[in-house]
Amino acid sequence: MSFARELDAWPPERITALLDRAGPAEAERALGQEEPGPADLAALLSPAARPLLERMARRASAITRQHFGRTVTLYAPLYVSNVCGADCAYCGFSTAAGKGLRRRTLGPDEIARECDALAARGFRHVLLVSGDAPGQVTCGYLAEAVRIARARFPSVSIEVQALDGEEYRRLAGAGIEGVTLYMETYDRGVYAGVHRGGRKADFEGRLEALERAGMAGVRRLNAGALLGLAPWRIDGFRLGLHVRWLQRACWRSAVAVSFPRLRHVPEGFAIPCPVGDADLVQIMLALRLFLPEAGFTLSTREPAALRDRLVPLGVTLLSAGSVTRPGGYADAEEKVLAQFEVEDRRSPEEVARAIRRAGYDPVFKDFDRAFDAEPEIPGRERCGSS
Ligand code: SF4
Repeated sequence: MSFARELDAWPPERITALLDRAGPAEAERALGQEEPGPADLAALLSPAARPLLERMARRASAITRQHFGRTVTLYAPLYVSNVCGADCAYCGFSTAAGKGLRRRTLGPDEIARECDALAARGFRHVLLVSGDAPGQVTCGYLAEAVRIARARFPSVSIEVQALDGEEYRRLAGAGIEGVTLYMETYDRGVYAGVHRGGRKADFEGRLEALERAGMAGVRRLNAGALLGLAPWRIDGFRLGLHVRWLQRACWRSAVAVSFPRLRHVPEGFAIPCPVGDADLVQIMLALRLFLPEAGFTLSTREPAALRDRLVPLGVTLLSAGSVTRPGGYADAEEKVLAQFEVEDRRSPEEVARAIRRAGYDPVFKDFDRAFDAEPEIPGRERCGSS
């Protein structure tokens, strides 16, 4: 069974009814639940929970320490291509954006140079990122990029177009540890409106991509919604259900959540449902209480001061020193199109110092050996068996 069935069971009206029904008593009760259900998640996301943010933060912090200790893993995105055949209204790589700036796809030597530049900065965990360029960023290209990166880093993940099961299997064999793939929004109508062309317009194909990756043996799955496209309480609720569904269906994979928030967008596109700082905090806290075992990722889209404040609330993975255009680590050329503007421009060392000041240990790679060594259990499917 795919998550699409469960998503269809939660139309916006049903979620809105739960949000509207939640008062102070429901929010208070949800905060005290050991295993919150969907109604509790709605109460934690509702306006009634806003006065409880401080108490939610204390609980979220304790839960995170219990499951992840006091460590925050640092990673860097490595853009291999900014060529994209899709037209996503909010993205700097879309076919309609970036006029006059250069598009390029890195060759093997250039990828190696970028990897060397990141390795020299201490990174052990990289995320290979590309636009959706069917003719250039093929599965074969990605497998070669992964091979080059794996020769230098113990942990390599990808954030690329939605792939089919066979492609995920091939990349898992090449050594990827994780797949990051945001649904952007779980609202089919909004999704269709902003994904104006290219393969990404296929809502169902994207919705099932992380499940395909889990079935193919990818050990870390990272979901997210692009905050700002649709009402955040509704997308946050559905994101929580999606991650819980993946945790159960793909039980051999660790499932994490990212919180990308739209801030800088291409000219002519207005953020439809802006998300404020307190909104971002509330969605992170509500999801931490609902998903105690999920890793939380926060990128350099958010400014330094806010990222520092969010670390104790549940963040387990932070990008640092990020450049969002291909070739940007080894080569400072500015005329190459970047995907989005980075807000936190601190170096990895500065980010690491800020993490230490908050009482946490920055790590450049956590070897999850127990997870790696998990034995096969006869008779259980890897993923998708429920
Ligand atoms: S969001 Fe992805 S697929 Fe869409 S335009 Fe940007 S890079 Fe291309």
